[in-house]
Amino acid sequence: MEIQELNKQIRKESTERIKAKVPEQVSTSWYNEDLLYSGKGKSIFVILATEGCSWALGPSGGCTMCSYINDCTQKPVKSNKIIELFKNELEKHPYKEDFKSDDKIAIKIFASGSFLNPKEVPKEARDEILKILSESEEISEIVVESRPEYVKEDVIEEVFNIIEDKLFEISMGLETSNDKTRLYNINKGFTLKDFENAVNIIKKMKEKGYNIKSKPYIFLKPILLSEKESINEAIETGIYCNNIGVDRLSYCPATIHGKTLIERLWRENSYKPPWIWSAVEVINRIRDEVSIPSLMDTSAFGSRRGPYNCKKCNKDLKHLIIKTNLTQDKIDYDCECKNEWKAEVECGDFNYSKTKINHLPLY
Ligand code: SF4
Ligand SMILES: [Zn+2]
Repeated sequence: MEIQELNKQIRKESTERIKAKVPEQVSTSWYNEDLLYSGKGKSIFVILATEGCSWALGPSGGCTMCSYINDCTQKPVKSNKIIELFKNELEKHPYKEDFKSDDKIAIKIFASGSFLNPKEVPKEARDEILKILSESEEISEIVVESRPEYVKEDVIEEVFNIIEDKLFEISMGLETSNDKTRLYNINKGFTLKDFENAVNIIKKMKEKGYNIKSKPYIFLKPILLSEKESINEAIETGIYCNNIGVDRLSYCPATIHGKTLIERLWRENSYKPPWIWSAVEVINRIRDEVSIPSLMDTSAFGSRRGPYNCKKCNKDLKHLIIKTNLTQDKIDYDCECKNEWKAEVECGDFNYSKTKINHLPLY
């Protein structure tokens, strides 16, 4: 399959050319308003210093839109270093000093891959991080990311032996419920069945009494899909996930990561990120269709490498989306560029264009 070969080649070139990071360069954090399971609150976001995603480091070359591996050490990091840097990040934020008894605080731990994969986050580091969090009276919800193959009953039991009754959410990058798009356009390497198995394990553990939740990441606009196809697939995926019993949805509109296949196509005018209107359409329609919370990421909105509308409305819509992520309201907004988006959604399938239509040929 040509996409897979090209993807492998681009990954190989980028890992040869880009200097791997040292753990201190990888580790970072920030602290923001967020929607928690318990309502509006704040989240501490921490990026762990890890070697990076095994899927991207392996022979597959990883997913076609993801360059997180370029921000990792690409070789094992000792547990005590991961823990030391994690503690340093926690100390940067005033969540303890400012804490009042009814405050709601979550932590989102990003391993730039899978927190539950012991090769990326050794068990010793995982256990110690969870122990630190279990001892925090302020943090009530813990969110991690993992590919579905690492979601196992015994691992979940080990986690809850430490964190006891704190809420634990596992986010998985399903991206789309369409196997063909996920396997070929994204090169994700797992099937819908694999994802469903992981969600079923989480549901089973929930029935056993564990305070566990699941969340899919849904990617808006994989390569080689038109604007209209990507909107429809994102909505279908959200509905499917709701039907199989996930607890909330997180949409990620495409941004152009460096040294990836998506970047190669974008540079050659064969791909562009989605319109912000498409993100608005997805979030409005999914909020009509499902009652679980749905979140829309706004990273790189309005930038050269991110979802865009026009200069007049990029910022407004970004702020509105962030606001409605907290309230779960629909977005009511208009701008003159909306007609251009509508034309592209309608005509993109007509001429199979995957990029911006500047004019329609008349002969
Ligand atoms: S999207 Fe996730 S699974 Fe794919 S390469 Fe990136 S970190 Fe790995
Ligand atoms: Zn506009």
